Amino acid sequence: MAELTDIETARELVLAETSPMPAQEVKLDRARGRVLAADVTAEMAVPGFDNSAMDGYAVRFADLTGASADRPVELRIVDESRAGHPAGQGPRAGEAVVISTGAMVPEGADAVVRVEDTEREEETVRISVAPRPSQNLRRAGDDVRPGDVVLRAGITLGAAELGVAASVGRAALPCARRPQVELLSTGDELREPGEDLPPGGVVNSNAHSIRALAEAAGAEVTRTATIPDDRERTREMLGRSISGADIAVICGGVSVGPHDHVRPALESLGVRQVFWGVSLRPGKPTFFGIAPEGGLVFGLPGNPVSAMVTFGLFVRPAVRAMLGDPDPRLRTTAILDTAIEGQPGRAHAVRCTLRLDSDGWHAAATGEQGSHVLTSMVSADALAILPTATGRLEPGERVEVELLP
Ligand code: AMP
Ligand code: MG
Repeated sequence: MAELTDIETARELVLAETSPMPAQEVKLDRARGRVLAADVTAEMAVPGFDNSAMDGYAVRFADLTGASADRPVELRIVDESRAGHPAGQGPRAGEAVVISTGAMVPEGADAVVRVEDTEREEETVRISVAPRPSQNLRRAGDDVRPGDVVLRAGITLGAAELGVAASVGRAALPCARRPQVELLSTGDELREPGEDLPPGGVVNSNAHSIRALAEAAGAEVTRTATIPDDRERTREMLGRSISGADIAVICGGVSVGPHDHVRPALESLGVRQVFWGVSLRPGKPTFFGIAPEGGLVFGLPGNPVSAMVTFGLFVRPAVRAMLGDPDPRLRTTAILDTAIEGQPGRAHAVRCTLRLDSDGWHAAATGEQGSHVLTSMVSADALAILPTATGRLEPGERVEVELLP
């Protein structure tokens, strides 16, 4: 770990090795949260036909010039247009067609009078207002015309996007395939939650927190495994994972201790190191490299907070970029409400809660910041990023924050 890479450079190096996965058609009911891989161009108009904005009567406005409450005009009802059941005939002079909201406007009608301005007899309707031409009509193509680009590539598909896609008749959308992640924990001490803990045993929390982060970012976790602190087993198990996965995330064993076998194993497996060692607290021993088959390999420090922080700063942007997200970072700034005790030398990632005030976002540190204090992540909304040279920051100062989605 001769020279530490700064956070931004490390992130650039990761993104430089990352490109969108091949696109596949994804059914709308599976597509929420996915990133659209190509523009969606409408082939149909929305609305698809002129329709009524009101329940009432489709009329010819020329029949009703001068109509008023004192001098209502009587029209003969000749048909009805309901949603999904257009009228068989349109109104000719002196005629009206009963119409429902959203129903097709019949041929010949050029306005709709709402039911509140009418009085119905058996075969006729008395109308007490003079409508303007096109009043209460929604024209075909008001929302979307054929040929309009309704959704742009790179957008993350949420409720409105899925609704728009459906409204133009698309049942599936092209989205980059979700990157497949293999998640490996290392350490003789690790046990699964609920298992008996021997002396010195530690519950494997990373397998759960990092899996959740990976899935929340949009990746598919295809395998999790725990690797003992054994040179040969580490090599063997890592070899299996890095060859198949789009991304291998290895937690722990990546530092310089005598039982840290990850880096030597990766080296002997032909993984090309891009960086090892980031100027970041917590997260210094973070490793990033490229497997011979092309997959990304991240070695994250095992401390539960360090693992989550470094996932957020380096792995999440890679996942988002592989999904085709053109802006995989979540940076903004906030005003500090609490002092932060930075030490110059390495950048600090400080867990913060955020609150919105009249002058913008405010950040407050979540208390004890040790890299083993996982509860400090529970209420954290963001990481305040203190640059390498920054010492103590006082309340009121502005800091960069990386959102923790
Ligand atoms: P390492 O990075 O392997 O040196 O681990 C640093 C610290 O993090 C040690 O106290 C480990 O027991 C702990 N640790 C490593 N991996 C995990 C894990 N998957 N879950 C919880 N703690 C871990
Ligand atoms: Mg370890």
